[in-house]
Amino acid sequence: MSKQHDRLQRVTIKENVLQVGGRSAAQLVEIAGGTPCYVYDRNALTGRVQSLRAAMPSELKLHYAIKANPMPAVVHHMAGLLDGLDVASQKEMMVAIGSGVNPEMISFAGPAKRLEELRAAVAANIVINVESRLELERLYQLSSEMGIKPRVAFRVNPDFELKSSGMKMAGGPKQFGIDAEQMPEVLFALDTGKVDFCGFHIFSGSQNLNPEALIEAHDKTFELAARLSELAPAPVKHVNIGGGLGIPYFPGETQLDIEPIAENLRKRMDARTGSFKDSEIVMELGRYLVGEAGYYFCRVTDKKQSRGQTFLMTDGGLHHHLSNSGNFGQVIRKNYPVLIANRVDGEDKERVEIVGPLCTPLDIVGAKLELPVADVGDLVVVFQSGAYGATASPQDFLSHPHVRELLV
Ligand SMILES: *Cc1c(COP(=O)(O)O)cnc(C)c1O
Repeated sequence: MSKQHDRLQRVTIKENVLQVGGRSAAQLVEIAGGTPCYVYDRNALTGRVQSLRAAMPSELKLHYAIKANPMPAVVHHMAGLLDGLDVASQKEMMVAIGSGVNPEMISFAGPAKRLEELRAAVAANIVINVESRLELERLYQLSSEMGIKPRVAFRVNPDFELKSSGMKMAGGPKQFGIDAEQMPEVLFALDTGKVDFCGFHIFSGSQNLNPEALIEAHDKTFELAARLSELAPAPVKHVNIGGGLGIPYFPGETQLDIEPIAENLRKRMDARTGSFKDSEIVMELGRYLVGEAGYYFCRVTDKKQSRGQTFLMTDGGLHHHLSNSGNFGQVIRKNYPVLIANRVDGEDKERVEIVGPLCTPLDIVGAKLELPVADVGDLVVVFQSGAYGATASPQDFLSHPHVRELLV
């Protein structure tokens, strides 16, 4: 089997065909009604949450950030396994409410919330992570207008950054949250008669595979939360310390070692004093929970040679799986793990470029791959596709059919 398997937690192959949830690739595609489709593995989702829970301190609350994969069936499944859901829009909020969780367990972050979104969140009584002073003013206004006291936490833009992150989302000037330096003044002026103060949200980054960097960020997050808690006008019910745990996508990347991170969190949680001591600590994760449980399948529709290169043309690509194409924040494109799902192994290999149907050279499914010789009708599978897939892709670009999604 190819080197790509180093990046995968576990793959089931039967008679040279990839299996997910006890079904063959071909069966799954039939159930989905054809290609292209995403398939999510329910058991893998459950297993991931269970192993994370087993490693982490038992008092640590785990939330699912649903923007990673907001398919309602997935959200519903995750809601039953976790302590809460984090949403980033009013529509995500509706999906979260639809999953049946207690609204108190839903929090809403987003840097430019519309007034209607704030109204919806206040009406639903979910926790709103306030990201600016004006947003707080709007919530004061809604409090009197609607006769409901909004539940607020403050999203703080920390005075540090999460090093070696796939995506930096904090430290320095950022559109997210309120700068840590501004927080004392905001807390001092907070009118707790108008809003119900719940705590803080400190999210510093995403897709991190470096335990030392995560530990350092957690240390600084706990320090910052302790400082802010001293200034809080009411008990700090919860502190959301963000997430950032990554999964391996590219050659050379390996599974994140969770043990030292868990160990450090245990220490940090136990060492708390003062008004921070009794607050709930929440970790919010998206891709770490769902990324490895998802597969993207597309079918080879044509095969051709061009000046020494072999192209496998498929019915799927960038419009469904932007991140795999390398156009979702990557500087240099690298391959996700990609296989021919119905010929996982084979003596006869060839070097192929796998591309999609869009009229742009950016539409790459896999580049310079050594794979068993494939032909029209074969199924291409992209692994690590459970997060930032269908809804993070420009599905209407070139007006091809939208992707199907299946949870098994
Ligand atoms: C996107 C996002 C997450 C999830 O990030 P992952 O890398 O998928 O874990 C969590 N919290 C906030 C505030 C986010 O914006």
